[in-house]
Amino acid sequence: MAENDELEATIGLEVHVQLKTRSKLFCGCASEFGAPPNTLTCPVCLGLPGSLPVVNGEAIRLGLKAALALGCTMPARVPFDRKNYFYPDLPKGFQISQHFGALGFDGEVEYWDDEGFGVVSVERVHLEEDTAKAVHAEPYVRAEETLLDFNRSGVPLMEVVSNPVIKSAAEARRYIVALRYALIEVGVSDCDLEKGAFRIDTNISVKKVDQEALGEQVEIKNLNSLKAMEGALEYEFERQVGVLRAGGRVERVTLHYDNATSKTVATRVKELRADYRYFAEPDLPPLEITTSYVDELRRELGPGPATRVRELRERYGATAAEAEMLAFTPGYPDFLKAGAAAYGGEHRAVVNWLVGDVTRELKERGKDLGGTKLTPAGLAALLRLLDAGDVNVPAAREVLAVLMSSGGEPANILDAKGLRQISDADVIEKLVREAAVANPKAVADIKSGKEKARRALVGYIMKETNGRANPTMVNEMISKVLAEP
Ligand SMILES: [Zn+2]
Repeated sequence: MAENDELEATIGLEVHVQLKTRSKLFCGCASEFGAPPNTLTCPVCLGLPGSLPVVNGEAIRLGLKAALALGCTMPARVPFDRKNYFYPDLPKGFQISQHFGALGFDGEVEYWDDEGFGVVSVERVHLEEDTAKAVHAEPYVRAEETLLDFNRSGVPLMEVVSNPVIKSAAEARRYIVALRYALIEVGVSDCDLEKGAFRIDTNISVKKVDQEALGEQVEIKNLNSLKAMEGALEYEFERQVGVLRAGGRVERVTLHYDNATSKTVATRVKELRADYRYFAEPDLPPLEITTSYVDELRRELGPGPATRVRELRERYGATAAEAEMLAFTPGYPDFLKAGAAAYGGEHRAVVNWLVGDVTRELKERGKDLGGTKLTPAGLAALLRLLDAGDVNVPAAREVLAVLMSSGGEPANILDAKGLRQISDADVIEKLVREAAVANPKAVADIKSGKEKARRALVGYIMKETNGRANPTMVNEMISKVLAEP
């Protein structure tokens, strides 16, 4: 058999997630974003000699909960380890992390797309402390200088390490989206990329499709958005393919992604494969995780994002994108359920209005559903008026805007604004005959097969009725009247 020359990417993702605790991982300092530099510090998180860490139970609880939500198995005993290295953002010369153990192993994240569902396996979930933040870009920093902000030092981070099983930038994106929703669902983190609460590192290698061994891995660090991650992976895949096709070898390097040029670039400092001399942290005893505690946490878990998406797709016939919006926009799941029950008609209509006009109105107003007066019963009543032909779609949109601003009964709003649709056949016939008399040329054109000329008649009637005539009935009546001998 001929060798398959086709090349494919193999991608692994390491995500650092900031846990939503009030205080830091090993001291009582507040774990907050945006405070003035170096105001949230103490001897422990400044790394002063002789200070001792005390573990934050809430961080352990959140980390375990996340590991459970990802379906990990949990060891009974979890040690902390020292990762030794020298860097200005780490004055004590080591970071407390989990290297030999972890909170959980062998989990998975189920993601969704238009074709269905897929799974990315997770190798491990562990905790570590964040380092200080190097500050270059602020106006108070002089050129060629770097200042350090220790507010971030000691903030609890959870690292979720996927196995290298992802095949494309698009699949990486779907994995990250599903992972974020899984962590948000169980309340362990806000997963806010802009605030640095969710940071993505990735490794990517390229090999022939039928070759088993992975190619040389390249790491790309600190991707701060989904767009940057996809851009970096797509660029890096093409770059490595180019190197291999030209007969070259891919070098094992660490790269950064330049958002401005959409290219991966080498880091200024050459990063060596460091020997971190990991050893067990002598100042902290290993965590003992009891099964009763794990069971207690398990009871707090939700169904998981993929299950939510699947249910919405099946029950309401939603597309993947619609189901994602319906499942994770605040207030939408309950509103959809109550709205569909109150309406009693085709679920599709409720879905269409919620992901369409309601979402558009909310965006324009900069509000979420809870910030308006729209109720599920109100939307359901409006949909029934549409079904009954009492209102056409443009007028229904006007009623929706009123429902969102001030609430009320759709039927009353319709009458108060004079928007009720004219669906009386006699009235419509009279209007069509008037229109025909006023537009003899259009009538002649329609009779000779120029269907476009209908517009003149419809336009006349809509003008006469302020757009309230039932358009379907108008069109049917035009055909009927003009078919008369
Ligand atoms: Zn502190």
